[in-house]
Amino acid sequence: MPELPEVETIVRDLRPHLLGQRIAQVVHLNPQVLRHPGPAELLSSLPGQLAVGMTRRGKFIHLRLDSGQTLVVHLGMSGSLIVAAADLPALPHTHLRLRLSSGVELRYRDPRRFGRVALGEEVVLRGLGVVPVLGDEPLGRGFPSPGVHAALRRSARPVKAVLLDQAVIAGCGNIYADEACFLARVRPSRPALRLSARERTRVLAALPIVMREAIRRRGTSFSDYRDGFGAKGEAFEALLVYGRGGSGCVRCGSTLRQATVAGRTTVFCVRCQQ
Ligand SMILES: [Zn+2]
Repeated sequence: MPELPEVETIVRDLRPHLLGQRIAQVVHLNPQVLRHPGPAELLSSLPGQLAVGMTRRGKFIHLRLDSGQTLVVHLGMSGSLIVAAADLPALPHTHLRLRLSSGVELRYRDPRRFGRVALGEEVVLRGLGVVPVLGDEPLGRGFPSPGVHAALRRSARPVKAVLLDQAVIAGCGNIYADEACFLARVRPSRPALRLSARERTRVLAALPIVMREAIRRRGTSFSDYRDGFGAKGEAFEALLVYGRGGSGCVRCGSTLRQATVAGRTTVFCVRCQQ
């Protein structure tokens, strides 16, 4: 599943190709991936609009248009958003194709269809619950805020569950929660409120470190993630624990253990992470 570093990579890739371009035509829309508004309204309002901004918020991609509306895309488990030459045949499961004034197409594809696309003013989309209220950005200035510290200090949930809570920290998913806990030498299953202040600080400081490194490597690809040009990222080779259950710990050599924490497959070192 694309997490913050993967979504950030896509946004950085696509931004120069989209800003200043007009949406000339909606070439294809699968109404099943559209959360808001109805297909007829989207088809009538998108053409002619100018792309004026592109940002990431948590795992959401926001393409701002000159009407004040935003095209919001969430990639779900297996989604990708790419620019492609218009004459390149679209891959199966391509649910939205927008022809831009430059002639290229913006294509949204999602085989497992857990993703979503919405169009509207951001305040309206939030009011409708199409876009949730999100917590702090791990790469934002001032992270971690006192609010994030408090959320960990007060929660009896496993520390990993709090890291995955998008209302507390926006953009953290399974991969980087495990990586941050390993770097901080904290067991992901520990109740968050039992962490010492020093451990809490270590976990929160580790998050931006693992995410920046993953962005530098253009994201982690397992099966589905692709960057804005349809290529795989290279962060997989740099992962220390995620996906390495049963292998040796890079720090102490012990066999990494795999367990379910917060409903998710979790890998950690029983010796290094207390
Ligand atoms: Zn270890």
